[in-house]
Amino acid sequence: TSFAHFGFDEQLMHQIRKSEYTQPTPIQCQGVPIALGGRDMIGIAKTGSGKTAAFIWPMLVHIMDQKELEQGEGPIAVIVCPTRELCQQIHSECKRFGKVYGLRSVAVYGGGSMWEQAKALQEGVEIVVCTPGRLIDHVKKKATSLQRVTYLVFDEADRMFDMGFEYQVRSIASHIRPDRQTLLFSATFRKKIEKLIWPW
Ligand code: AMP
Repeated sequence: TSFAHFGFDEQLMHQIRKSEYTQPTPIQCQGVPIALGGRDMIGIAKTGSGKTAAFIWPMLVHIMDQKELEQGEGPIAVIVCPTRELCQQIHSECKRFGKVYGLRSVAVYGGGSMWEQAKALQEGVEIVVCTPGRLIDHVKKKATSLQRVTYLVFDEADRMFDMGFEYQVRSIASHIRPDRQTLLFSATFRKKIEKLIWPW
């Protein structure tokens, strides 16, 4: 597979070329077409595999389609991950690729300023990258709403479970509309994790 197979538009292709990636990684070859097709997915992939771009590129296509269909407030895509560092890394990739469409991303993690994060959320964003507890805090305080979310990513799901975030992660999943697209990435496969996507 080459990048041309994904059918991305020229703006996104230009940004990918600027990144000097020569070819898609295995998780991108397998995952991108599934995600672009609107399907739910579990990706078993470790850090360094290129998994971040595998969910960000289809996310951008999804957001641009969704924005036309549905006006309204609050993010269209939410990415949930276990740590502040990962949150900042994913957010920076969202900005790098999202800027070609003028899309806005905010990173919302424990330890950062509640007030500054709330302000960024209220200014309007299409993408929220978050740690689980902090997103819930902002939703409770009505700094943002999850009603427009149709693209949900759980990154490093096994690590979130190991860190004791299971309850928060389930709570987020249950507050986002059921007709959403869910992508889940984990270094290991566990039945418990699969249930996050398909709870029934
Ligand atoms: P990740 O596994 O998402 O943390 O990505 C690991 C690193 O690989 C990041 O620095 C990415 O910028 C980089 N990367 C992502 N996709 C590709 C690709 N197709 N070719 C080369 N590097 C990539």
